[in-house]
Amino acid sequence: MIHSPQTFRSSPHFPGGGALPFGGCFAPETLMANLIELESLWIDAKDDPAFRAELDGLLTNYAGRATPLSHAPRLSEKIGVDVWLKREDLLHTGAHKLNNTIGQCLLAKRAGKSRIIAETGAGQHGVASATTAARLGLECTVYMGERDAERQAPNVQRMKLLGAKVELVTSGSRTLKDAVDEAMRAWVEDPDGSHYVLGSALGPHPFPRIVADFQSVIGREARVQCLDQMQDLPEVVVACVGGGSNAIGIFRGFVDDAEVELVGVEAGGRGVATGAHAARFSGGAPGVLHGTHTYVLQDDGGQIRETHSISAGLDYPAVGPEHAGLGASGRARYESATDGQALDAFGDLARLEGILPALESSHAVAWVIENSTALRGKRVLINLSGRGDKDLDSVIAAKAALAGGKR
Ligand SMILES: *Cc1c(COP(=O)(O)O)cnc(C)c1O
Repeated sequence: MIHSPQTFRSSPHFPGGGALPFGGCFAPETLMANLIELESLWIDAKDDPAFRAELDGLLTNYAGRATPLSHAPRLSEKIGVDVWLKREDLLHTGAHKLNNTIGQCLLAKRAGKSRIIAETGAGQHGVASATTAARLGLECTVYMGERDAERQAPNVQRMKLLGAKVELVTSGSRTLKDAVDEAMRAWVEDPDGSHYVLGSALGPHPFPRIVADFQSVIGREARVQCLDQMQDLPEVVVACVGGGSNAIGIFRGFVDDAEVELVGVEAGGRGVATGAHAARFSGGAPGVLHGTHTYVLQDDGGQIRETHSISAGLDYPAVGPEHAGLGASGRARYESATDGQALDAFGDLARLEGILPALESSHAVAWVIENSTALRGKRVLINLSGRGDKDLDSVIAAKAALAGGKR
């Protein structure tokens, strides 16, 4: 059953919550009560000073906000672009994901729920959810595709050590898409006791809006830091786009500054022409997946296509609906970087700046390096969404494969 978003409370807090051509709430009957309750919960919480104070306190004293803005002097000199990095890699658990899990877990507590459900692909959102659940005294169940669990064994161990229950999903392709299906099913079965902590700016309304609001702290901080350290706004803001939460988080700080260019970088995989990628804007078409209308990688019959990226966090067939809207209106543009370009950027940032970036974030760095001629002399702000410690095995394996190929 497809519901129109008009069933939601019409509210100035959710401008376009149902009116945009992208987004909406294409959810089964059984989920609607949970989603409507969640919207009310968020509308009441977001302007409550006590909720804000608790959220800000945890972000500051537990997660480690504000994260720094770092100039990248040696990379800047090498490529002739003035590069600055917003350091979400320095947040607790090593990526921006905790901004969202802390916010949503506080919402769950406010609603009197004792348990959270989460899905995870690479395990990063699962670890952030398990971490937050431990801190706030909530039970935590994480759904993860069996194939992902094999590929990301250390994160499965981390979640278990943090006290979470990890449920392996054996249906379908045994990856993230199937884990989301199972998590939604589990939420329907326990609507009073549990809250589903969705991990990116995706899914049925109100999730994309809530996640973007919690991640917008990145952009708010970055704008102030730019004015302080650059004495100006950046001319271009660049972020990698999986579901789109870190990108929408930093874009929110600059979207009203019409002169600031916004660039999202998707996974070009082995090259968009090969079909082995996750570039939804250039390779996808409008469609519905997991409750939202957006750009989706699909075949002519509407079946979801297999995706590929060296970075698990960008390897998903749909993009957050707010990005679809920003792309359609021309306010932001969406480009891609290949596996190989991301690997090179990973190495450049490590050697020139002493930072091992996540492979996801390396895509944003790669796009800037690849386009340095067009960007010459410009102030460019890159959202460094996470750190690369989790990716060392992938990087070493990919380098070995490349070296083997050259022999
Ligand atoms: C999960 C993840 C991403 C992709 O998710 P978005 O919702 O697009 O931000 C990007 N970078 C890192 C480090 C991640 O862990």
